[in-house]
Amino acid sequence: MKRVLVIGAGGVGNVVTQKCAQVPEIFEEICLASRTLEKCENIARNTKRPIKTEKVDADNISEVVELIREFKPDLVMNVALPYQDLSLMDACLETGVHYLDTANYEPIDEAKFCYKWQWDYQERFREKGLMALLGSGFDPGVTNVFCAYAMKHYFDEINFIDIMDCNAGLHGHAFATNFNPEINIREITQRGKFWENGEWIETDPLSVRKEFDFPEIGFREMYLMYHEELESLVFNIKGLKRIRFWMTFGKEYLKHLDVLRNVGMTRIDSIDFEGKKIVPLKFLKAVLPEPSSLGETYTGKTNIGCMMEGTKDGEKKKVYIYNVCDHAECFKEVKSQAISYTTGVPAMIGAMLIMTGVWKGEGVYNMEQLDPDPFMEKLNVYGLPWVMKDIKI
Ligand code: NDP
Repeated sequence: MKRVLVIGAGGVGNVVTQKCAQVPEIFEEICLASRTLEKCENIARNTKRPIKTEKVDADNISEVVELIREFKPDLVMNVALPYQDLSLMDACLETGVHYLDTANYEPIDEAKFCYKWQWDYQERFREKGLMALLGSGFDPGVTNVFCAYAMKHYFDEINFIDIMDCNAGLHGHAFATNFNPEINIREITQRGKFWENGEWIETDPLSVRKEFDFPEIGFREMYLMYHEELESLVFNIKGLKRIRFWMTFGKEYLKHLDVLRNVGMTRIDSIDFEGKKIVPLKFLKAVLPEPSSLGETYTGKTNIGCMMEGTKDGEKKKVYIYNVCDHAECFKEVKSQAISYTTGVPAMIGAMLIMTGVWKGEGVYNMEQLDPDPFMEKLNVYGLPWVMKDIKI
């Protein structure tokens, strides 16, 4: 019996659970566990077949270990928050279970994400013969696989990569974030950073922008940001001279973010409030719409892809690989908006490849270190078809 334990019943957890439930031949038994049991039960009401639900605090290693010992999964899928990455990796090591996540660890009291903490688990996973797959969402995740696929089939070396993430959807709220508000705002308010000629170059937050004509969407302004897949791709892509990450934001979103930052609502340190300690960003999260609630009214599309330039057989070459996803179509299928969908589907595919032994390894892996072909094939099958374009230079 193949069993998967999904931890985190938010927007992404909903998609992962629904998609795993659609593939009973691989995910024979599914358990969805999260901090709030009711959220697991709400998701379970919509799955194609019955699943188990449990309450668990993923910060508490012994609680997770107990749940793993009881349910006996082959794989733990962490779609809770990046804060839980290390405790869940520890629980997997203690119980001898493979691990997968969609976002790299960051400490709760410092808005700084980086792979070091999880790469430090390399030897421990190797010694136990276990696999930890890091960042199996869209970006990171599919974007890493797009790069690996291009490297394998179209280039001898890739010199320039621009990862471009556009959400042209409208959800009808004045301000809402498409994934966990706390993690999203921490990411966007950080300084920008890109890698060029062996060096990291920093920029002020959202200070560098340019326009791009996104297929099926049109011209949008995108802003240079630091994003976690850059950290591993600089090691794993041959011939790289520059890699950057860009994301589009609407004017309304940026205006609200500016005001929230100016008035101190994005602070992550705790303050005294009427005799209690509160963290302004956590309070803000509590009053913003949940990402999982946005789908019903969401219209429009996302386009996320990689523009890559390099050489093949001595000739210059440029390739653009992207996926377009429609918010309303995602809602029709699994009651989700496209951001959770584009994260949850690759998480399910990563899980599927581990559970069937197509992707196997001992240690900690980033997505581009594995064979991209089976993953690319499954994207087309499970709802995220991609397009590859040769671009004239
Ligand atoms: P949500 O806030 O919608 O969901 C997070 C869920 O995790 C909530 O249900 C929450 O429970 C649960 N949770 C939080 N802390 C704990 C805990 N200690 N123990 C158990 N459960 C806990 O976020 P999303 O679904 O939008 O995002 C999930 C993850 O996916 C995040 O890490 C995010 O960074 C990542 N992501 C990755 C992307 C990619 O492309 N790679 C893109 C988008 C997101 P409760 O409801 O009780 O608070």
